[in-house]
Amino acid sequence: MKWQPKLPITSVYTLLEADICSLCGACVAACYWGALYFNPQQPSQLARENKLCVNCSRCVIVCPQATLWARKDLYHEDVKVLDAFHARSKNKDVLSRAQDGGVTTTLAMSALEKGLVDAVVLAGTEDKWVPKPVLAFRAEDVLGCSKSKYFYVPSLVELGRLDNVNKIMVVGLPCQIRAVERLAELDVGISRKVAYKVGLFCAHNVDYSSMIEKLAPKAGVNVNRLVKIDIKRRLIFYDKEGKSYELPLSEFESLTRPSCLQCPEFVSRGADINVGFRGASEGWNMVLVMSKLGERLFNEVMDGFEVKKPSSEDLSRVYDMDRKKREKAGNYFMEFYGAGLGDRFLDYATWRVICR
Ligand code: SF4
Ligand code: SF4
Ligand code: SF4
Repeated sequence: MKWQPKLPITSVYTLLEADICSLCGACVAACYWGALYFNPQQPSQLARENKLCVNCSRCVIVCPQATLWARKDLYHEDVKVLDAFHARSKNKDVLSRAQDGGVTTTLAMSALEKGLVDAVVLAGTEDKWVPKPVLAFRAEDVLGCSKSKYFYVPSLVELGRLDNVNKIMVVGLPCQIRAVERLAELDVGISRKVAYKVGLFCAHNVDYSSMIEKLAPKAGVNVNRLVKIDIKRRLIFYDKEGKSYELPLSEFESLTRPSCLQCPEFVSRGADINVGFRGASEGWNMVLVMSKLGERLFNEVMDGFEVKKPSSEDLSRVYDMDRKKREKAGNYFMEFYGAGLGDRFLDYATWRVICR
């Protein structure tokens, strides 16, 4: 019989056991007691120190995965954008090192250089592509995080290190942007330092061990020589010599976890700007401006890009992808939990107490 999570999920331990953690890192930053942490030796999951846990539920309350039941809107509402562009960085160094049009990298570098923010939260990697949450203070640090990973990196851990920082940009996947929104709803202090949220299109990710310890060797690439991972109808690994190693996309899709199967967002609703490849041609990015703040940000950094307007067909490719993901996730949600979207797993009184 299919395993189902015990409801309501009121403990981070149940949540981790239910396999719905997408390793966003928010709970690590939110736990005052240091009971949760990211251990690079075990890069596919969070580590926990059960002795330090005081059962306050704070981690679960900020979790973008445990709280999806309350976000019926995300499963039903279409993406609404203020404006859309095709964009490509004018910076040759960025173009040679970043994915596609290098827009996210250039945007983050420009925001730092123009003093719009003090630091940027990003997903980086260490040797052998081990996930590394990064708080970047300089443009060079941003450049070091420029490649797409397609596996989880708990970047929001860095929100726990903002003592001497006033204004940050968070670059993250839709689940990570949802976590930042949760922190803001709960008025957790660190959320007041988030000046801009930049979302990255996400169909789904897998964990580190699936990508680097299973798929990369299966494709035949030496991980020590791996320099780029890409998804363009196939999963493609590139080595230092520029040689490519491919696998059918179904190999990647077969390793999708419940965390991503229940996730409704291809495009982040809560981001100020979203960036991705879908709907753009080779060497360019699609940029969706979602808020007035995003519009101001994009205008401030626009001089770093070549831009042109996408066609309605280009935009439809993004919206169709988002709609399909929402529908699939809505069906999976019911199957996984045995409860419908919007069915309250917690009554409001309990919810309010643990949200204090
Ligand atoms: S319940 Fe509280 S103390 Fe325990 S891991 Fe979660 S936030 Fe930390
Ligand atoms: S999804 Fe994020 S907040 Fe939830 S348990 Fe995983 S790391 Fe923590
Ligand atoms: S599919 Fe959703 S939960 Fe999974 S990595 Fe992407 S945004 Fe996060």
